[in-house]
Amino acid sequence: MSEPKLDCPFPKVFPSQFLRDDIFFMSLAYNQAIDAWRDDEVPVGAIIEHGGEVIASAHNQVDGSLDPTAHAEILAMTKAARAIGDWRLTGATLYVTKEPCPMCSGAALMGRFKRVVYAVGDPKMGCLGGATDLNALPRVNHHIEISGGVFEEECRELLQAYFRLKRLDKE
Ligand SMILES: [Zn+2]
Repeated sequence: MSEPKLDCPFPKVFPSQFLRDDIFFMSLAYNQAIDAWRDDEVPVGAIIEHGGEVIASAHNQVDGSLDPTAHAEILAMTKAARAIGDWRLTGATLYVTKEPCPMCSGAALMGRFKRVVYAVGDPKMGCLGGATDLNALPRVNHHIEISGGVFEEECRELLQAYFRLKRLDKE
């Protein structure tokens, strides 16, 4: 039933703590994605920033937890809400290595995030502009600032390598 694990050939990155910009936080999300791979999960990672600090981090755990909702973003949002003691994550920014799916884009709206920053766009399932844009629902009052393409090459390479190696592994 369980297939042999694929070793992750990518090292983690160590961004400077002095410049806490989008690339800094996305680098941390990238490191979470590497943790996902090390757990034999599709390498997607998420970080939530609030007041300049990381208040939650998580990686995809769908396979290990047998839970279709165990996406990095959802797990991080739950942790973040607990960390600040409020389900309203107003003022927080979600950093995620792949554009959020319908579930996670919806959750980001429901959680009233200030911003969502993603690395790799997803034309199939991305719901913040890739396949469709939940953030543009005309009657929804809350809108999120969206930025895509941050630390994109690294995150894309990680995802593509994972699926490539998985396929080779099966052949
Ligand atoms: Zn998702």
